[in-house]
Amino acid sequence: MFKIKKSLIYFFIFITIIIIIPALCTRRKKVTDIKIAENKEVPKYDYTKYGKVKLLHKSDNSIEEIPIDEYICGVVSAEMPANYEIEALKAQAISARTYTIYKIENSKNKHGEADICDDSTCCQAWISKQDRFQKWEEAERENNWNKITSAVNTTAGKIITYKNEPINAFFHSNSGGITESASNVWGEKDIPYLKSVETVGEEGYAQYSSEVILTKQELIERLKIEYPDIQINYDEEECIKILEYTTSKRVKTIKFGNIEVSGTNARSILGLKSTNFEIKIDGDKIIFSVIGYGHGVGLSKTGANSMAKQGKNCEEIIKHFYTGVEITQL
Ligand SMILES: [Zn+2]
Repeated sequence: MFKIKKSLIYFFIFITIIIIIPALCTRRKKVTDIKIAENKEVPKYDYTKYGKVKLLHKSDNSIEEIPIDEYICGVVSAEMPANYEIEALKAQAISARTYTIYKIENSKNKHGEADICDDSTCCQAWISKQDRFQKWEEAERENNWNKITSAVNTTAGKIITYKNEPINAFFHSNSGGITESASNVWGEKDIPYLKSVETVGEEGYAQYSSEVILTKQELIERLKIEYPDIQINYDEEECIKILEYTTSKRVKTIKFGNIEVSGTNARSILGLKSTNFEIKIDGDKIIFSVIGYGHGVGLSKTGANSMAKQGKNCEEIIKHFYTGVEITQL
């Protein structure tokens, strides 16, 4: 009996030595292998002259030199929620990279020594990895960051071109179902790849609709800052009237009393999320009901996400929002 027990113990020791310990070691080794493989998976793309971006931090006017794709990770994580579809994040990465290279080439002297700034209302948003992590729940930090770096790294070197030139790849938050052509926003000549296109699925997002409510007096006070001679006689039936719409049904010109204001100017003075709005006067209240968020030109971020949900890939998304473009390896 004792002999059997003893041999059983030896047997277990033997099994432990030949199977379990090596298995544990192998498992550990595999984990290390995966980590190394993940790092190796990302070869540094050679951007030659676009290798580094001189980024102006608006908060303290300092300029930081950052490798381009590291900078693009900071842009994508600032511009698009990490829980968006991977193909939408990839489309955002390619647009942001294209926009950056366009800026490097075409905006000399706009920001002095710097190529681009981190202000979303001027160039494009950017956030450091450290600040981004502070804003994410701890449990989702690594996953979110891996998703963003994957969107950037799997599209390394890719930019959007029109007639072999990098495009001015504008993007915005929510088109409200139809994007705007650039000439209606900035008044310059038509840019062939920034045409108005329709997109589905935008209405499912919080950015789709919003409201601004002002009193009759508040409206006059706001407009007075830029139009000191403004007078609105609210007893007149058409004291406030939209005079002209753009082809995408956004407000092009609007009359407030004795003045005419462009839709884009009205948007900025009144703090509306877009120029796609309607007005209702209700007692002392003026209600601006707004559809969409942003200037509406180029790629819509929520539109990109809804296309990705419908199974479209990043190239299809880009070619939908930018007319007649190609995706080119730099
Ligand atoms: Zn800027």
